[in-house]
Amino acid sequence: MGSTKYVFVTGGVVSSLGKGIVAASLGRLLRARGYKVSILKFDPYINVDPGTMSPFQHGEVFVTDDGAETDLDLGHYERFIDTNLTRLNNVTAGRIYQDVIAKERRGDYLGATVQTIPHITDEIKNRIKESAHQLSPDFLICEVGGTVGDIEGLPFLEAIRQFRYDVGFKNTCFIHVTLVPYLKASGEVKTKPSQHSVNTLRSIGIQPDILVCRTERPLGKSERLKLAQFTNVSPECVIEAIDMAVLYEVPLVMEKEGLAKQVLERLNVENSTPNLTAWQEMVQRVKTPSHSLKVAVAGKYTGLSDAYLSVIESLKHAGASVGASIEIRWIDSEDCVDDETSQALLSGVDAIVVPGGFGHRGIEGKINVVKYARTHEIPFLGLCLGMQVAVIEFARNVAHLTRANSAEFEAKGDQPVVAMMEDQKNLSEKGGTMRLGQYPCHLVKNSKAAEAYGTDVVMERHRHRYEINNDYLDILTDAGLLFSGTSPDRHLMEIIELPTHPWFVACQFHPEFKSRPDNPHPLFKGLLQVAVNCKQTTTAEAQQPVNS
Ligand code: GLN
Repeated sequence: MGSTKYVFVTGGVVSSLGKGIVAASLGRLLRARGYKVSILKFDPYINVDPGTMSPFQHGEVFVTDDGAETDLDLGHYERFIDTNLTRLNNVTAGRIYQDVIAKERRGDYLGATVQTIPHITDEIKNRIKESAHQLSPDFLICEVGGTVGDIEGLPFLEAIRQFRYDVGFKNTCFIHVTLVPYLKASGEVKTKPSQHSVNTLRSIGIQPDILVCRTERPLGKSERLKLAQFTNVSPECVIEAIDMAVLYEVPLVMEKEGLAKQVLERLNVENSTPNLTAWQEMVQRVKTPSHSLKVAVAGKYTGLSDAYLSVIESLKHAGASVGASIEIRWIDSEDCVDDETSQALLSGVDAIVVPGGFGHRGIEGKINVVKYARTHEIPFLGLCLGMQVAVIEFARNVAHLTRANSAEFEAKGDQPVVAMMEDQKNLSEKGGTMRLGQYPCHLVKNSKAAEAYGTDVVMERHRHRYEINNDYLDILTDAGLLFSGTSPDRHLMEIIELPTHPWFVACQFHPEFKSRPDNPHPLFKGLLQVAVNCKQTTTAEAQQPVNS
């Protein structure tokens, strides 16, 4: 298409409005018209990246192929635009300040007083230009995190305001996502908060071109006109974003509302018919399951489902591909104190997932959950920490290493079946120092993993400091554990499985970061396919006459 066009997405009234979903949906609609799209997320907090933030506060940390620890919105972006993103796609205020301060220390500013404007804003603008230059998309969508009116977001808003002047009006489009609440008492949707939010945006010099209105009730014609009139947006640019039960339906609804058409018009790019057939079919599969599966997810951040966002989405993708809806049963691993409580909490589930995590809290419970899955032949998938606890459980209860543990939870244990990786031992900084990003994994022929992937080498994303201790490989193998995936030099154990179990597979990497709605991850699909098969066998057996 030539030079990059820029779409900026801001949010007003409240946080958690789903700006990321709007940005990702627009990305999908432009991709469906054959354009190359990339999405950049600005996060106005001071952390250099979200890698050090608690999942309780901030939700999942999403890891890219190139090992960046990023905001969970990047997961939405990748899933919606089906494109792998990089560290260029997520920039925090902390990173901007870090770079500006490094330049100041080097003397790059030649004695100038270093200020928010122009130095911080220039750095932000440079980031946008650098991403456009390196990723060379037709459209670069930039989402500014936070809510308009937040003090910390101001440098970003000032930077994008200036950016419009730098690259020209016909190359930039501003979308403001806002909330139009419904007041039960008066039976009306209210436009005033959106008017105020656009006023705030205008007071810093940004007039939005398009308003995307989150609402639980449809907007009437009069409300749309009122919004248009009082925010200075053309009536056809007031886009209704009604709450949807199926997340992946949002692009289809946005298409009907004319979001992409209006963006293209503002950017002087000819509109064309999008090819959304495969996406529509996928949404149809999600909406019309032929059976349902109860999947237990046992972790310690169960109070905030965003902490396991990609895991949940991966289960949904795989579920849709095997015709099943997914009902998640959240298990707080700390509650699984023994076999009886685990039995009570887990009985009746069709599959069990133990996801990643850090720290010793809830570990014994996770081990009990794994034991339940192993001994009751419930299809099981362990992810990162989930694989480490699966190895501890197997070591303790099958390989007779009764004191087996991870060095993460017991520094001086005498049976460390999980130990700190060599290159992690001398690191003092926490941020960005784990084994991060994509690495190859070689699969053992005829293993369940190799069958599921249908290939013998895969690339998967990592985020960990500990690994299976190779001193115990022989004992564990002799006891029946198969190391079915390893690093090419065979030094790092990447996948384990139990050949005698219907599906007991765990991996050191995070397959959840690579699952896509219309291309589910093979390990999640394998888990749920076996779960469906097991469920059907159990139901058929239960239906047999007793004395047949
Ligand atoms: N805490 C474990 C490690 O650092 C597992 C990490 C994870 O689950 N992402 O190795």
